Amino acid sequence: MKVQLLPSTIETDGTAAKRQHFSCIVVDDRVAIDAGSLAFSCSDLQRSQIRDIVISHVHLDHIAGLPPFVDDLYSTLTAPVRIHGTVGMINDLETHIFNWTIYPRFSELTNSHGKVVEYVPFTGGTEFGCAHLSIMPIAVNHVPVSMGFIVSDGNVSVGITGDTAHTVDVWEQLSDRGDLAAVFVECAFPDDLADLAAASHHLTPSGLAEELKKFKRSDVPVYAVNIKPMFRTRVIDELSRLAIGDLSVPEPGQVFQF
Ligand SMILES: [Zn+2]
Repeated sequence: MKVQLLPSTIETDGTAAKRQHFSCIVVDDRVAIDAGSLAFSCSDLQRSQIRDIVISHVHLDHIAGLPPFVDDLYSTLTAPVRIHGTVGMINDLETHIFNWTIYPRFSELTNSHGKVVEYVPFTGGTEFGCAHLSIMPIAVNHVPVSMGFIVSDGNVSVGITGDTAHTVDVWEQLSDRGDLAAVFVECAFPDDLADLAAASHHLTPSGLAEELKKFKRSDVPVYAVNIKPMFRTRVIDELSRLAIGDLSVPEPGQVFQF
């Protein structure tokens, strides 16, 4: 399984910055988990192949790249882009984003081949098929309703917690997953902003260390992602001082092969 953290932010010399404003994880160049930077950072291959987008929650940093991604493809699509989300997430996208004011309601539009967007609802706790993958959505602790995912290609699986504060179910299911190859977990704020992290349902390095006590798998690497860009250096320093097992911080744009 190939997993890439799409970069979101560009340095003045045109290279990908280490700052990560938007979240989008692409699996096998075919399925996007969230779409924060999707339209802005995907490769031509990814743009030509990604037709399934799985939404963890509707915060802007996770969906900002969705409207322009569909817009880019609109006239060339021969099959609709499938947007997977809970019924509530789908309603929020239709009400607040694709509402004819912020952006066109693509679900009501067609091109010469037919529909350009199709919504595919999922329910927390019920595994669903998505392209060649099986995806288990697990409710996590964030506002609005948010899901973590266990993504499987039949050989290996990867955990992606999305945005979350302290939670339980996802760690129990990840601990039991025999084919688990990696976990990507958020760590948004440094420890001295623990109050802000709690209010916004995010984690700090110390909070993440507490979370990982519930993860009973010392054989699986953990990657801290979704670090607020203003605090990236501080969060990385604090994580390294905590020396948490097999935990590291990947670079935006990094590609993993599991
Ligand atoms: Zn969020």
